[in-house]
Amino acid sequence: MEILKGISAAPGVAIGPAMILDTEEYRISRRTVPVAGVDEAIERLRHAIASSREEVEGEKRLFSDRVGPRFAEIFSAHEWFLEDPAIVRELETGIREKRYTPEYAVSRVYRRYRKMFDEIESGHLRQRVSDVVDTERRLLRHLLGARRKDLASLEVPVVLVAHDLTPSETARLDRKNIAGFATDVGGPTSHTAIVARALEIPAVVGLGSVSMEVSGGDEMIVDGTRGLVIVSPDTDTAKKHRAMGRNFHEHERSLARKLRDVPSVTRDGQAVRLMANIELPLEIPGALEHGAEGVGLLRTEFLFAGVREEPTEQQHFETYRDALQTLGGRPLVVRTQDLGGDKYLDGSEGREEPNPILGCRSLRLSFQRIDAFRTQLRAILRASAHGKVRILFPMVGSLSEWRQARGVLEEVRTHLRSSGVPFDPDVPVGAMIEVPSAALVARHLARECDFFSIGTNDLIQYCLAVDRVNERVAMLYQPAHPAVLRLIHETVQAAQEAGIHVSVCGEMSGDVQFTMLLVGMGLREMSLAPILIPEVKRVICALDANAARDLARKALQMGDAAETLALLREQTSEAAPWTS
Ligand code: PEP
Ligand code: MG
Repeated sequence: MEILKGISAAPGVAIGPAMILDTEEYRISRRTVPVAGVDEAIERLRHAIASSREEVEGEKRLFSDRVGPRFAEIFSAHEWFLEDPAIVRELETGIREKRYTPEYAVSRVYRRYRKMFDEIESGHLRQRVSDVVDTERRLLRHLLGARRKDLASLEVPVVLVAHDLTPSETARLDRKNIAGFATDVGGPTSHTAIVARALEIPAVVGLGSVSMEVSGGDEMIVDGTRGLVIVSPDTDTAKKHRAMGRNFHEHERSLARKLRDVPSVTRDGQAVRLMANIELPLEIPGALEHGAEGVGLLRTEFLFAGVREEPTEQQHFETYRDALQTLGGRPLVVRTQDLGGDKYLDGSEGREEPNPILGCRSLRLSFQRIDAFRTQLRAILRASAHGKVRILFPMVGSLSEWRQARGVLEEVRTHLRSSGVPFDPDVPVGAMIEVPSAALVARHLARECDFFSIGTNDLIQYCLAVDRVNERVAMLYQPAHPAVLRLIHETVQAAQEAGIHVSVCGEMSGDVQFTMLLVGMGLREMSLAPILIPEVKRVICALDANAARDLARKALQMGDAAETLALLREQTSEAAPWTS
């Protein structure tokens, strides 16, 4: 039994056999298959060789048609490396006798050939190195691609283990067959973690090298609540964790049932509206079950994750209209696509930016993908005829960016009006405050915005220069840092002075350690992962708004994150003792 410590990404406990997903960069680690899986592994290898051969033949034909048969001969070396009986024998022996996975056998054998050709002086033979590399990659692509597709058709729920999972890969996971997941990289507010929470899949990220240490089929426990992974647990540990998993679900459901219709009001009568952060409209019924009073953040970039084609206006429109119908008169805040950074549509360009988090992401990317931006805005406006919609622009960095976004919206409005298409002319339009520059000019923005939504996930990242997806600096990602608190305070003050709505929609609003502070700073609306709503509501109901105000005043005088956090914990556990 081995215990690994990582970062809690989504609460709950999952137990099951490990299924390893290797990365697209083909960092294949040494792994074995169980004895009973050897025949199936050989079958997978043969299948991958056959598909690779077909692919090479297709490419050869295409090349021959284009530039003549003589040049197409370069593909013969690929065919040779795929079919050579000595290579195939060596691959199969590795699987049969050493129980290597097909991926590991391929990587081991072809790397040996690569080294061999590399050491040869003759120029002609040295050129073979690239053919060996190509063949290895081609085979791995077929093996791993098949694995990724297999995810949809698993029969026993597995624990997925990967170096990394992209947010859109996570969004496509099915809770029916993925009990939990564990990754080498990632931080607590990475979008992968956010999506795991939304899908209620227990997850631990930032484990360092779990994907190298676990073999496919190993029994694994993912304790997403404590951020632990246990490999090959003994019987007692497995039994204990099964019970913990059941208790977690029962507690979570009974709390949701008990508090769903209880008003979210402090002991001295201050109402604090709790809204849901969602990625997909199918989360709405669950969010309402958890007591959400509406959707405070629809992250629309996930709606079409994995779809290569740009969504049409009609697809956007129907999605928002259906969401409004499910909400039955409750509000829906639609954030325009926040792509880039760690979130990409499949096949979209731009991944190669040197610093994607500081690069062309979010609103900046929307201005460059102006047609897609207009399409989405038209659809949101059209949906506004069917319910209470608010439009939210992500990552506004300055007044001029805000005006530019408003300008595009105005054009779209004018066009819809002249075409006689119905929409609500008073749809509120707001800015996410998630870059320090926006927080610092919040007073100017507040004069032109209808509302603010504070995105603490990015605000912390940009304020502290700490990448939110990098587990190596996760310790420095401190929501209680005085600089972060001042930016939040500044924003709330600006909103209050201008008389506009302000809410917090970053992960801070789902962390009970910060509930008292946020209420004390004057926040009367928070948007959070639905699964966290009952716990936060329970704390709100135990608070006194005046005491919370005193706490916020004290916290804003402090200079150190750890000391501030200690004070918040102490005061929170005094008001709500079950949180400690
Ligand atoms: C945020 O940055 O706090 C936020 C809510 O947006 P996202 O997590 O999608 O970047
Ligand atoms: Mg953000």
